[in-house]
Amino acid sequence: MSSAATRTTGPDHLWTVDEHLEDILATVRPLEPIELQLLDAQGCVLVEDITVPVSLPPFDNSSMDGYAVRVTDIAGASEEFPAVLTVVGDVAAGRAEPLHVGPGEAARIMTGAPLPPGAEAVVPVEWTDGGLRDGPVTGMRARSQAPEAAGGQVQVYRSAEARAHVRATGSDVKAGDRALDAGTVLGPPQIALLAAIGRGTVRVRPRPRVVVMSTGSELVQPDEQLADGQIYDSNSFALTAAARDAGAIAYRVGAVADDAETLRDTIEDQLVRADLLVTTGGVSVGAYDVVKEALSSVGDEDEAGAGIDFRKLAMQPGKPQGFGSIGPDHIPLLALPGNPVSSYVSFELFVRPAIRTLMGLDDVHRPTTRATLTADKALTSPKGRRQFLRGRYADGEVTPVGGAGSHLVAALALADALIVVPEDVESVEPGTEVQVVLLR
Ligand code: AMP
Ligand code: MG
Repeated sequence: MSSAATRTTGPDHLWTVDEHLEDILATVRPLEPIELQLLDAQGCVLVEDITVPVSLPPFDNSSMDGYAVRVTDIAGASEEFPAVLTVVGDVAAGRAEPLHVGPGEAARIMTGAPLPPGAEAVVPVEWTDGGLRDGPVTGMRARSQAPEAAGGQVQVYRSAEARAHVRATGSDVKAGDRALDAGTVLGPPQIALLAAIGRGTVRVRPRPRVVVMSTGSELVQPDEQLADGQIYDSNSFALTAAARDAGAIAYRVGAVADDAETLRDTIEDQLVRADLLVTTGGVSVGAYDVVKEALSSVGDEDEAGAGIDFRKLAMQPGKPQGFGSIGPDHIPLLALPGNPVSSYVSFELFVRPAIRTLMGLDDVHRPTTRATLTADKALTSPKGRRQFLRGRYADGEVTPVGGAGSHLVAALALADALIVVPEDVESVEPGTEVQVVLLR
C-alpha cells in the first residue's frame, strides 16, 4: 500500500532518511507468535511469562566430591587428630538409592549427588585421606580409581559447619518464581535456564523469513566464468548474510535477469516463503530499471507491485528506494538500489530495523555513538543529503575507509562503522566530533 505521506507529497518529493524509515516502521508489524523448540527460539522474543515449575536444585546436593557427614562427628578434627568414620557407601549424581548416614558414618559423595538423609554437610575429598589407607589422594584420583567405598574408613582432617558444600533445594530458583518475563530475548543463558527448569518449547515471535533477490542481466554467480561486461553478484550474498545477522531466516534467490515479466513471476513464486522481500538494483531512472518497471504498475490493485512506492531519498549513497507491500498477504517489500555499498547501507538503515520489528524486538536500530574524526583532509558531503561514509571506529575515534563511491566493496569490507554527515553539513574537518553508526 502507498502511505498517505506518498500521496500528499507526490512523486517529486525528496524523502528524508527519517521519513522513509518511519513509513517502513509504521507499516511492518511483529509476526504472530508460535511455539518453538528451545534451540529454534534462539534470538527470538519470548511472548509468555515463564514460571518455574520445580525448584532448582530440586534436592539438596553436594557442590564437591567428598564425604557426606554429620557435623558432630568431625567437630575438632585436624591433621593430627583426624575423625575416623565408617564409609557406608557411594552416592553418585543420578543415583537415587536410599543411603542413611548415621553417627560415626560417612557416605562418599560426588558433585551434584543428593545429600543422603542423616548427613548435614560435605567435606571435600581434599580434607580427607580419600578413604584409602595408602595416603591422601585428590578428587580426580579418588573418583576414578578408588573402588566402591562401602565398608572402609575415611579419615577427616577438618571440621565443617552444617550445610557446608551443600547446594540447598531452591537456592537457584524456587517453584512458582518468575523465570523469564515476556519480552525477553532468548540468548544462550536464557535458553540454559529454560532447559534447566524443564521447558522444551516456548512461545516466541518467530524469526522472519526474508527472501533476497538481486536483479541485473550482468550478474554472474561466484565460481562461474565472467564474460565481457559481466560482474559477480555480490549484493544477494551481502544482504542474505546481513539478514541472518539481523536475526532472520534468509533465503537467497539467484540474480534475476532484467526482464519485468521474469521478475514479477519470481517474486510471486517467492511470496509463499517470505515475511519480507528485499530486491536490489533496477530502481533508478535508467532504461532496464526492471524492479521499478515490474512493481510500479499502476491501475489494478491486485497486480503484483501495485503497492510499491518508488521514491528519492535525501541520502548518499542510496538515493533511489522502493517500499510497499505485495501479494494477497501484503508482504512488505523493500527495493534497494543496486550499487553494492548503496544496497548494504540501505539494508543497515531500513531493512535491519524492519526485520527486528517483525521479530518484536524493542531495540531495532544499530547503536550510534559520537566519535572524533581522524583523517588527513576534510570530508566533503553533498548539500541537502545525509551522507553515510564507511569508517573504522576504535576508542572514540573514527577513520574513513575508501571514498564516497558506492561501488567500493573492498573498503566496505574494512569498515565497521558508518560516519554520518548531516544534510546541512558540506565539509567536516579532522578533529571534529561526528555521529557514527556501529555495525558490530
Ligand atoms: P542498477 O541500480 O541495477 O543500475 O545497479 C547499479 C550498479 O550496481 C550497476 O553498476 C550494477 O552492475 C551494480 N549491481 C547491481 N546489482 C548488483 C549485484 N547484485 N552485485 C553487484 N553489483 C551489482
Ligand atoms: Mg541493474
